[in-house]
Amino acid sequence: MKTIAVVEDNADNRLLLRAFLADTYEIVEYETGMAALEAFASALPDVVLLDVSLPGMDGLAILARIRGDERLKKLPVVALTAHAMHGDRERFLTAGFDDYVSKPIIDEQILLNALRRLLERA
Ligand SMILES: [Mg+2]
Repeated sequence: MKTIAVVEDNADNRLLLRAFLADTYEIVEYETGMAALEAFASALPDVVLLDVSLPGMDGLAILARIRGDERLKKLPVVALTAHAMHGDRERFLTAGFDDYVSKPIIDEQILLNALRRLLERA
């Protein structure tokens, strides 16, 4: 079973993501980017779902750490963001995210399709 790392500070959102994904994937959850980065040092997930708005180091800063790390830089990372505005998709892809899913997630198929695409590519 492929492993999806969920980096999300909101407990309700983590619960929802687990409900969508747990039948298909192994889920590991982190409340902060630092906790995720520490864990990735010993075990790499197959895909990271990364909330952009996190306390402390935000999603963009965490992504920069991932892309700047020789061991982590190829990890597929999907931005999760509540700030769904025109142009966001391009902005996040330009920043180095592999895909972008806006919250609230109403259609779980969008998320599942994004994960499938990234896992097939890997
Ligand atoms: Mg958040």
